[in-house]
Amino acid sequence: MLTRNLRLGRARPPTPAAVLTLLAGLGLTVVLAVGMIDGERERARSEFLQRAEIRNASVTRSFGDALDVLQAANALFSSVGIATRDEFGAFARPLLANHQYLQAVVFHRMVSSADRAAFEAANQRFRPGFGIRERRATGDAVTVVPAGRRPRYLVLDYVEPLGGNEVALGYDAFSFAPHAAAFMRAIDTNQPAASAMLPLLQRGDRLGFVLIQPVYRRGAPLVNAAARSAAALGDTAVIIDVAALVDSNLAKSNLLAPNGLRIELYGPGVDGPQRAYVYDSLGRTRPPPWHALMGDTLFTNRHTFDVAGLPWELRIAGRLSDMTGSTGPLIAFVLGCLVSLATSAYVQSRVKRTRRIEALVESRTADLHDALDALRLYRRAIEASANAIVLVSATRPGYPIEYVNPAFERIRGYRAAEAVGRGLLELGAREPDRAAVAELRAAIRERREAHVSMRLSCGDGRQMFAEVYIAPVNNDDGVTTHFVMTQYDVTMAKRYEAELEARARFDTLTGLANRSMLQDRIENAINLAAGRGVVWVAALDLDHFKFVNDTLGHDAGDELLKTAAQRICSVVERTDTVARTGGDEFVLVLPGRENESEAAATVRAVLEALAHPLELSGQDLVLTGSAGLAAYPADGSDAATLIQHAEVAMYRSKELGRNMVQFYMPTMNARARERLALEGALRSALTHDEFELYYQPQVDLVSGAVVGLEALIRWRHPSMGMVRPDRFINLAEETGLIVPIGAWVLRTACRQSRAWQHAGLGPLRIAVNLSARQFAEPNLVREIARVLEETGLSAACLEVEITESLVMGDVESAIRTMRELKQMGVLLSIDDFGTGYSSLSYLRRFPVDVLKIDRSFVRDIPFDEDDAAMVAAIIQLARGLRMRVIAEGVETEAQLDYLRRRGCDEVQGHVYAQAASGPDVERMLRTGRHMLPHNATV
Ligand code: C2E
Ligand code: CA
Ligand code: CA
Repeated sequence: MLTRNLRLGRARPPTPAAVLTLLAGLGLTVVLAVGMIDGERERARSEFLQRAEIRNASVTRSFGDALDVLQAANALFSSVGIATRDEFGAFARPLLANHQYLQAVVFHRMVSSADRAAFEAANQRFRPGFGIRERRATGDAVTVVPAGRRPRYLVLDYVEPLGGNEVALGYDAFSFAPHAAAFMRAIDTNQPAASAMLPLLQRGDRLGFVLIQPVYRRGAPLVNAAARSAAALGDTAVIIDVAALVDSNLAKSNLLAPNGLRIELYGPGVDGPQRAYVYDSLGRTRPPPWHALMGDTLFTNRHTFDVAGLPWELRIAGRLSDMTGSTGPLIAFVLGCLVSLATSAYVQSRVKRTRRIEALVESRTADLHDALDALRLYRRAIEASANAIVLVSATRPGYPIEYVNPAFERIRGYRAAEAVGRGLLELGAREPDRAAVAELRAAIRERREAHVSMRLSCGDGRQMFAEVYIAPVNNDDGVTTHFVMTQYDVTMAKRYEAELEARARFDTLTGLANRSMLQDRIENAINLAAGRGVVWVAALDLDHFKFVNDTLGHDAGDELLKTAAQRICSVVERTDTVARTGGDEFVLVLPGRENESEAAATVRAVLEALAHPLELSGQDLVLTGSAGLAAYPADGSDAATLIQHAEVAMYRSKELGRNMVQFYMPTMNARARERLALEGALRSALTHDEFELYYQPQVDLVSGAVVGLEALIRWRHPSMGMVRPDRFINLAEETGLIVPIGAWVLRTACRQSRAWQHAGLGPLRIAVNLSARQFAEPNLVREIARVLEETGLSAACLEVEITESLVMGDVESAIRTMRELKQMGVLLSIDDFGTGYSSLSYLRRFPVDVLKIDRSFVRDIPFDEDDAAMVAAIIQLARGLRMRVIAEGVETEAQLDYLRRRGCDEVQGHVYAQAASGPDVERMLRTGRHMLPHNATV
């Protein structure tokens, strides 16, 4: 899951946060880089200015240097007067040697026109052909010719070095306008003056200029220009090679190494400013890489200065790229980009992670809410449970109780606060049921489920009986952390157990022994007689009882039966047994009668007692009966045969005119004949297709919905008409015919149920009655499985009804069969519950789903308190054993109401519907699954 998220996450586009981070990072980087570039530019500019300043200073100084040289030469004349030629030469030569830029050091002598001849003559003595000369320009060429007549001449008299300058000797500087102008300016300003630039005489390719300072007569007042002009004896001048001047100075200061500067010097030319000097080393270094981003810049600097009255300008230019080689901005930019990318990636991953965590937290929270909802639901369910539920810690010593539900408080009479924290077994019984406690301890030790029934003592000292279930609660790792214990109060059921047992052996209406008790009594008597004595068995049937029942009603019928029972009992001995075996059928066991007459006397006394008039529902009645006697060992050696033969004799009595006694005689086979006839008809009934199934709805008491149908067999005999099962099931059982008949019932019922499901009538449980013989069939389970498979009905839709007495023969094998059926998924129900030999200890071992409360209990609720209480006890018992309860034979809404209040689950009876044929039931189901009760008219 996580890896899938991760993979998906990688494929997803960058998050806005990551994009913003990247943009912000890049923006910052650009700002930083631009800032750095600006800084770099500023740094470069100041670097440039600094370099320019140095050069400005150097160049300016070099001119100062030249002026110093001039002034030194002039000082020679002002101190000693006009020096001699030799003195001049001795003075000038070291100057020339020290200052390479000096082309020449000169003394011009002022010569008046009057002195010209003498001057020329004096010089001609050591310089033949000497004369004062001047320049003359003819076309392009410049020639030097003898000077014309002028009042004064400024004649070049001394020049050092002489070599190469000889031609200049005698030259009149006044004839050369630039020089004349400079001289006049020097007179005017009383300052040294510079000439405009001119090509150098010696090196015509280079420019130079002349620095001039007049020489005055010593002591003359130099107050104004005129006085100075009058006092002027001449001038000292130095001729300067501009390039050499600048070069030598820059070189001296080591400023000429390639440094990325162009140095241009502009000086005064004859026709305006003229470039005098260029030094160019621009662009010699490689521009730094960030210029690709920002472009290069050319810095320029102009420095103007005055040289002896004339303006000069030094222009210096330098490239930004030459001032700085820093890759700082670029590195900053690249690093900035990288950091931005990395930060953005980090933010992206954080955002992803955060989202993932958020999603995870969200889904976990939702899970938690679901779990909490479920927990709340479970808790409410537990709190609403009608049974005591206890939660016990499995890990703390003594297994303390951690929780009890409200039902526990109610049933056990302990408040939750009292119970919680106490050991599980502390809240047990005062005199504990050793076996049950041992089983519980074992279950706790072995971390397994257990079910015991035990006595428990309650908070108020009461004793109660409970069905107790315990089950381990394991955590996800399979470790048992708790036990959950459920306690069902079956005190009431237990109290009625004895009575149930009695009922199992006694007829509930009359209190006489029932058929099963009768069986025992006969067998006991036979054992006691053991070949020495005789045991008489009398069968007695009330005449016209059916008539009484039909005309005066059931209540009258019941009253009559009770009275009859009392009267019979009042006659017989204490050692005799009186049993009621059917509606109006009684059987008496009369041991100790030596002969027929003694036995007959007792029976006659009974008939006489019965015959006393009786008032019933305002009617006077005389009860008569018919009786038959059979004797052990003469007429039979077992109870069944003896009863049967007594009944045969009794039928003989009825035939002969009622209210009499007949002894059994082997010839008395009338009844046997009838049975034989019935048996014959029964055998062919299957092949003649005379059977039919009726279905009776089973209705959920709460919803009123039909949840199941009980299949009830009907025999439509061509001449006898509709024969009720009561009349032939026993016979079929005895003859074994029940096996094929039962198989037919099972198949037909399953097929019908499946057909109804197919027809869309919903899943309906179908209940099928099994007889003892069928249940004992060794291949019963296989047969049922086959039928289910053939018909396609799901096992969960089939319910098998068995009676308690039916399994009592061989309990172990019965339980085995039940288990096998349960394993298949077939439901099991105990039919006619309460009439057979009910033992809770057995019942607990039966894997049974449903208890069917017998009609006899239902009949008298809510009028008979005992019966009503019994029904309530059975319902409680079923709950304790976690079984469903269905009440059968429910005929009135009052019964229904009582059953509902007692918590009965389902009912079956005429109050909803009688058993009806398949098509009738189908019609009914089609109108809806829900039924309304109505008092049955019985
Ligand atoms: P049962 O299994 O106890 O069936 C219930 C009997 O009570 C049915 O009689 C039914 O019609 C009747 N009944 C239902 N509701 C009421 C009511 O409100 N009031 C009264 N008075 N009676 C009601 P049915 O159909 O005559 O069956 C009698 C017995 O025959 C059944 O008793 C059952 O033991 C047996 N039986 C019926 N069909 C079969 C079968 O297919 N196989 C076997 N082995 N036995 C069957
Ligand atoms: Ca039944
Ligand atoms: Ca029944």
